Amino acid sequence: MSETILDLQDVTLRFGGLVAVDGVSMDVRQGEIRALIGPNGAGKSTIFNLVTGVYRPNQGTIRFGERSLNGVPPHRLAGLGIARTFQNIRLFSSLSLMENVLIGAHSRGRSGLAGAVFRLPPFRQEEENLSLQAWEALAFMGLDQKAGELAKNLPYGEQRRLEIARALVSQPRLLLLDEPAAGMNPQEKSALMETIRRIRDTGITVFLIEHDMRVVMGISDRVAVLNYGKKIADGLPAEVREDAGVIEAYLGTGGKRERRRTRPVVALPQVALEGGAGHAGN
Ligand code: ADP
Ligand code: MG
Repeated sequence: MSETILDLQDVTLRFGGLVAVDGVSMDVRQGEIRALIGPNGAGKSTIFNLVTGVYRPNQGTIRFGERSLNGVPPHRLAGLGIARTFQNIRLFSSLSLMENVLIGAHSRGRSGLAGAVFRLPPFRQEEENLSLQAWEALAFMGLDQKAGELAKNLPYGEQRRLEIARALVSQPRLLLLDEPAAGMNPQEKSALMETIRRIRDTGITVFLIEHDMRVVMGISDRVAVLNYGKKIADGLPAEVREDAGVIEAYLGTGGKRERRRTRPVVALPQVALEGGAGHAGN
């Protein structure tokens, strides 16, 4: 059994009267594909937002390896080795694919503002390395042929792949994917499953939120299930699929539903494009 890379202990987050995440404990182990599922509004994306410092838990601890993530702001995450994609795609629509990926790469740059402004040699070297890494990330996602095209001209499924390329360019140890198959057709979903396996095979641990059960059950090593903010099941895909509480959560109320009892305290961008540098994420 491999070591724990991400560990949540008794994590709670409230939005006013709504307990979006309610005493959740779960771990992600080095090298696995770990899934988090649950009905709409169950608190899945909020877990990602807690891990990535968009929100601070009211209660509980989140550790990445030996390090506490409580209070670590989102812009520090890439440097620690954590990258994510968003449920609502966040790309710069009028920039090229290459530029969109480079934005992810720059968050990891080290030569600092002075180096960038005066174009000192370490900065130039870094620029070359970053361009190379961006090419590699695009190629890994099968998008290098389109590097110069504008993001807005990509079909939807490829926009989702571009988001993953941008996350990969920071060379994370842990990659969080929030509903990467949403809006994809069956062929794109199959290709995505293969891609996620290849990402894992390069040594990157994958933490996946996904609605499509074929995708989840097909690629995950372990699956945790949230319902109304609480973890109701956790185990192997086959175990979770048979769990009576899970079946009830998905089927008992007709599957999809909203749990919004309070107005959002933070305005979240709902548009599909633009706003790539924003933090609060859905
Ligand atoms: P999921 O990703 O499982 O569909 P979310 O984590 O996005 O669910 O949301 C969990 C609950 O928290 C929902 O009821 C949602 O409306 C609520 N919520 C999420 N973000 C906010 C916010 N910023 N302010 C108020 N309520 C929020
Ligand atoms: Mg969500």
